[in-house]
Amino acid sequence: MQARPYVLEETTWKSVKGIDYEVAILPWGATEAHNYHLPYGTDNYESKYVAIESARKAWEREARVVVLPTIPFGVNTGQLDIRLTINMNPSTQAMVLGDIVESLEAQETRKLVIINSHGGNDFRQMIRELQSSSAVFISVINWWSCIDPKPFYDEAGDHAGELETSVMMEIAPELMLPLSEAGEGGAKKFKIAGLKSGLAWAPRTWTKVTEDTGSGNPSRATREKGMRHLDAVTSAIADFLVDLAQTDRPDSYE
Ligand SMILES: [Zn+2]
Repeated sequence: MQARPYVLEETTWKSVKGIDYEVAILPWGATEAHNYHLPYGTDNYESKYVAIESARKAWEREARVVVLPTIPFGVNTGQLDIRLTINMNPSTQAMVLGDIVESLEAQETRKLVIINSHGGNDFRQMIRELQSSSAVFISVINWWSCIDPKPFYDEAGDHAGELETSVMMEIAPELMLPLSEAGEGGAKKFKIAGLKSGLAWAPRTWTKVTEDTGSGNPSRATREKGMRHLDAVTSAIADFLVDLAQTDRPDSYE
Protein backbone atom coordinates (compact mmCIF):
# COMPACT_ATOMS: atom_id res chain seq x y z
CA MET A 1 0.00 0.00 0.00
CA GLN A 2 1.26 3.44 -0.92
CA ALA A 3 1.32 5.96 1.97
CA ARG A 4 -1.17 8.77 1.44
CA PRO A 5 0.28 12.15 2.48
CA TYR A 6 -3.17 13.31 3.67
CA VAL A 7 -3.49 10.39 6.15
CA LEU A 8 -1.23 11.12 9.13
CA GLU A 9 -1.10 7.51 10.40
CA GLU A 10 0.50 6.46 7.13
CA THR A 11 3.03 9.25 6.75
CA THR A 12 6.58 9.81 7.99
CA TRP A 13 8.37 12.87 9.34
CA LYS A 14 10.41 12.78 6.16
CA SER A 15 7.26 13.54 4.20
CA VAL A 16 5.50 15.71 6.80
CA LYS A 17 8.32 18.18 7.29
CA GLY A 18 8.25 19.19 3.65
CA ILE A 19 4.49 19.87 3.48
CA ASP A 20 2.80 23.04 4.66
CA TYR A 21 -0.42 21.53 6.00
CA GLU A 22 -3.23 24.07 6.17
CA VAL A 23 -6.06 22.03 7.69
CA ALA A 24 -6.12 19.15 10.17
CA ILE A 25 -9.17 16.87 10.14
CA LEU A 26 -10.18 14.91 13.23
CA PRO A 27 -12.60 11.99 12.78
CA TRP A 28 -14.55 11.32 15.98
CA GLY A 29 -16.76 8.29 16.49
CA ALA A 30 -18.08 6.02 19.23
CA THR A 31 -17.89 2.41 20.38
CA GLU A 32 -21.40 1.03 20.73
CA ALA A 33 -23.80 -1.72 19.72
CA HIS A 34 -25.47 -1.12 16.31
CA ASN A 35 -28.51 -3.41 16.06
CA TYR A 36 -27.43 -7.05 15.48
CA HIS A 37 -25.82 -6.65 12.09
CA LEU A 38 -23.36 -3.72 12.25
CA PRO A 39 -20.03 -3.71 14.14
CA TYR A 40 -19.36 -1.77 17.35
CA GLY A 41 -16.89 0.40 15.46
CA THR A 42 -19.47 1.53 12.86
CA ASP A 43 -19.21 5.23 13.79
CA ASN A 44 -15.39 5.05 13.72
CA TYR A 45 -15.33 3.41 10.29
CA GLU A 46 -17.77 6.02 9.01
CA SER A 47 -15.98 9.14 10.28
CA LYS A 48 -12.61 7.81 9.16
CA TYR A 49 -13.92 6.96 5.69
CA VAL A 50 -15.66 10.32 5.25
CA ALA A 51 -12.59 12.22 6.49
CA ILE A 52 -10.12 10.37 4.25
CA GLU A 53 -12.27 10.40 1.13
CA SER A 54 -13.04 14.12 1.56
CA ALA A 55 -9.34 14.80 2.16
CA ARG A 56 -8.41 12.83 -0.96
CA LYS A 57 -10.76 14.91 -3.11
CA ALA A 58 -9.47 18.15 -1.57
CA TRP A 59 -5.82 17.08 -1.92
CA GLU A 60 -6.32 16.48 -5.64
CA ARG A 61 -7.31 20.16 -5.84
CA GLU A 62 -4.07 21.23 -4.13
CA ALA A 63 -5.54 21.73 -0.65
CA ARG A 64 -2.97 20.65 1.92
CA VAL A 65 -5.11 18.79 4.43
CA VAL A 66 -4.30 15.93 6.79
CA VAL A 67 -6.52 13.43 8.58
CA LEU A 68 -5.55 12.71 12.21
CA PRO A 69 -6.20 9.31 13.84
CA THR A 70 -9.85 8.66 14.78
CA ILE A 71 -10.98 9.18 18.38
CA PRO A 72 -12.97 5.99 19.00
CA PHE A 73 -15.10 6.92 22.05
CA GLY A 74 -18.30 8.94 22.13
CA VAL A 75 -20.84 10.13 24.67
CA ASN A 76 -22.88 7.02 25.49
CA THR A 77 -24.21 7.79 28.97
CA GLY A 78 -27.62 6.33 28.01
CA GLN A 79 -26.12 2.97 26.94
CA LEU A 80 -23.99 2.07 29.97
CA ASP A 81 -26.01 -1.12 30.51
CA ILE A 82 -25.20 -2.48 27.02
CA ARG A 83 -22.17 -4.74 27.17
CA LEU A 84 -18.91 -3.19 25.92
CA THR A 85 -20.48 0.07 24.88
CA ILE A 86 -17.83 2.53 26.09
CA ASN A 87 -18.78 6.01 27.26
CA MET A 88 -16.51 9.05 27.12
CA ASN A 89 -18.06 11.95 29.02
CA PRO A 90 -18.35 15.36 27.33
CA SER A 91 -15.98 16.85 29.94
CA THR A 92 -13.34 14.24 29.02
CA GLN A 93 -13.89 14.88 25.31
CA ALA A 94 -13.38 18.59 25.94
CA MET A 95 -10.00 17.85 27.51
CA VAL A 96 -8.96 15.54 24.65
CA LEU A 97 -10.01 18.15 22.10
CA GLY A 98 -8.23 20.89 24.05
CA ASP A 99 -4.95 18.94 24.02
CA ILE A 100 -5.19 18.34 20.27
CA VAL A 101 -5.91 22.01 19.59
CA GLU A 102 -2.99 23.04 21.81
CA SER A 103 -0.63 20.71 19.89
CA LEU A 104 -1.77 22.08 16.52
CA GLU A 105 -1.46 25.64 17.72
CA ALA A 106 2.12 25.14 18.90
CA GLN A 107 3.01 23.75 15.45
CA GLU A 108 1.21 26.48 13.57
CA THR A 109 -1.49 24.37 11.98
CA ARG A 110 -4.22 26.94 12.29
CA LYS A 111 -7.38 25.18 11.13
CA LEU A 112 -9.13 22.10 12.51
CA VAL A 113 -12.27 20.35 11.28
CA ILE A 114 -13.92 17.66 13.39
CA ILE A 115 -15.80 15.03 11.37
CA ASN A 116 -18.32 13.67 13.85
CA SER A 117 -20.32 10.50 13.26
CA HIS A 118 -22.13 10.03 16.59
CA GLY A 119 -25.38 11.74 17.50
CA GLY A 120 -24.50 11.76 21.21
CA ASN A 121 -21.37 13.85 20.57
CA ASP A 122 -21.88 17.60 20.57
CA PHE A 123 -18.72 19.63 20.06
CA ARG A 124 -20.25 23.06 19.59
CA GLN A 125 -20.05 24.20 23.19
CA MET A 126 -16.50 22.87 23.48
CA ILE A 127 -15.52 24.81 20.39
CA ARG A 128 -17.13 27.99 21.75
CA GLU A 129 -15.06 27.63 24.91
CA LEU A 130 -11.78 26.79 23.12
CA GLN A 131 -12.18 29.37 20.38
CA SER A 132 -12.07 32.30 22.77
CA SER A 133 -8.46 31.53 23.67
CA SER A 134 -7.07 29.62 20.68
CA ALA A 135 -5.59 30.81 17.38
CA VAL A 136 -6.73 27.56 15.75
CA PHE A 137 -9.98 28.04 13.81
CA ILE A 138 -12.16 25.09 14.81
CA SER A 139 -15.27 23.81 13.04
CA VAL A 140 -17.36 20.65 13.19
CA ILE A 141 -19.30 18.63 10.61
CA ASN A 142 -21.88 16.00 11.52
CA TRP A 143 -21.38 14.04 8.33
CA TRP A 144 -24.73 12.19 8.27
CA SER A 145 -26.74 15.41 8.24
CA CYS A 146 -24.39 17.93 6.62
CA ILE A 147 -26.40 17.59 3.42
CA ASP A 148 -30.04 16.50 3.53
CA PRO A 149 -29.99 12.68 3.56
CA LYS A 150 -33.70 12.30 2.70
CA PRO A 151 -33.32 12.17 -1.12
CA PHE A 152 -30.95 9.20 -0.82
CA TYR A 153 -33.14 6.90 1.29
CA ASP A 154 -36.68 5.64 1.71
CA GLU A 155 -36.38 6.15 5.48
CA ALA A 156 -32.91 7.17 6.66
CA GLY A 157 -33.40 6.16 10.31
CA ASP A 158 -31.43 7.22 13.32
CA HIS A 159 -29.09 4.54 14.65
CA ALA A 160 -28.15 1.45 12.60
CA GLY A 161 -31.08 2.13 10.27
CA GLU A 162 -31.22 2.37 6.48
CA LEU A 163 -28.67 5.19 6.23
CA GLU A 164 -25.98 3.67 8.41
CA THR A 165 -26.52 0.17 7.03
CA SER A 166 -26.29 1.42 3.43
CA VAL A 167 -23.05 3.33 4.00
CA MET A 168 -21.47 0.40 5.84
CA MET A 169 -22.29 -1.79 2.81
CA GLU A 170 -19.91 0.49 0.93
CA ILE A 171 -17.33 1.13 3.69
CA ALA A 172 -16.87 -2.26 5.37
CA PRO A 173 -19.29 -4.90 4.05
CA GLU A 174 -16.98 -7.69 5.26
CA LEU A 175 -17.73 -6.71 8.89
CA MET A 176 -21.53 -6.85 8.56
CA LEU A 177 -23.91 -9.70 9.19
CA PRO A 178 -26.55 -10.34 6.52
CA LEU A 179 -29.69 -8.18 6.77
CA SER A 180 -31.66 -11.29 7.69
CA GLU A 181 -29.82 -11.19 11.06
CA ALA A 182 -30.84 -7.58 11.78
CA GLY A 183 -33.67 -6.57 14.11
CA GLU A 184 -36.38 -4.18 12.92
CA GLY A 185 -34.87 -1.22 14.74
CA GLY A 186 -38.16 -0.09 16.28
CA ALA A 187 -37.74 2.65 18.89
CA LYS A 188 -40.28 3.64 21.55
CA LYS A 189 -41.26 7.25 22.15
CA PHE A 190 -41.55 9.10 25.46
CA LYS A 191 -45.06 9.01 27.01
CA ILE A 192 -45.06 12.74 27.83
CA ALA A 193 -46.38 14.67 24.81
CA GLY A 194 -43.82 17.51 24.95
CA LEU A 195 -40.91 15.07 24.90
CA LYS A 196 -42.53 12.97 22.18
CA SER A 197 -43.15 15.97 19.90
CA GLY A 198 -39.70 17.47 20.39
CA LEU A 199 -40.96 20.51 22.29
CA ALA A 200 -38.58 19.45 25.05
CA TRP A 201 -35.51 17.28 24.84
CA ALA A 202 -34.06 14.78 27.32
CA PRO A 203 -31.58 11.93 26.82
CA ARG A 204 -33.05 8.46 26.41
CA THR A 205 -32.27 5.24 28.26
CA TRP A 206 -31.43 3.15 25.23
CA THR A 207 -32.37 -0.32 26.50
CA LYS A 208 -35.84 0.97 27.41
CA VAL A 209 -36.30 2.63 24.01
CA THR A 210 -35.02 -0.08 21.66
CA GLU A 211 -35.42 -3.85 21.24
CA ASP A 212 -32.21 -4.58 19.36
CA THR A 213 -30.17 -1.40 20.08
CA GLY A 214 -31.15 -0.08 16.62
CA SER A 215 -33.38 2.92 15.94
CA GLY A 216 -34.49 2.85 12.31
CA ASN A 217 -35.36 -0.05 10.03
CA PRO A 218 -32.35 -1.28 8.01
CA SER A 219 -34.33 -3.64 5.72
CA ARG A 220 -34.30 -1.39 2.63
CA ALA A 221 -30.59 -0.56 2.83
CA THR A 222 -28.53 -1.01 -0.34
CA ARG A 223 -24.91 -0.40 -1.20
CA GLU A 224 -25.97 1.81 -4.10
CA LYS A 225 -27.82 4.21 -1.73
CA GLY A 226 -24.82 4.37 0.59
CA MET A 227 -22.39 4.95 -2.27
CA ARG A 228 -24.42 7.85 -3.71
CA HIS A 229 -24.89 9.48 -0.31
CA LEU A 230 -21.19 9.14 0.63
CA ASP A 231 -20.09 10.55 -2.70
CA ALA A 232 -22.31 13.63 -2.27
CA VAL A 233 -21.19 14.13 1.33
CA THR A 234 -17.46 13.81 0.63
CA SER A 235 -17.69 16.11 -2.41
CA ALA A 236 -19.44 18.79 -0.34
CA ILE A 237 -16.92 18.46 2.48
CA ALA A 238 -14.02 18.55 -0.02
CA ASP A 239 -15.35 21.87 -1.39
CA PHE A 240 -15.36 23.24 2.15
CA LEU A 241 -11.83 21.96 2.84
CA VAL A 242 -10.52 23.61 -0.32
CA ASP A 243 -12.12 26.94 0.67
CA LEU A 244 -10.82 26.64 4.22
CA ALA A 245 -7.28 25.79 3.10
CA GLN A 246 -7.21 28.78 0.73
CA THR A 247 -8.48 31.30 3.27
CA ASP A 248 -6.02 33.06 5.54
CA ARG A 249 -8.77 34.47 7.71
CA PRO A 250 -11.61 31.93 8.01
CA ASP A 251 -13.18 34.10 10.72
CA SER A 252 -14.04 36.83 8.22
CA TYR A 253 -17.55 37.70 7.10
CA GLU A 254 -19.32 38.87 3.93
ZN1 LIG B 1 -23.68 4.85 14.41
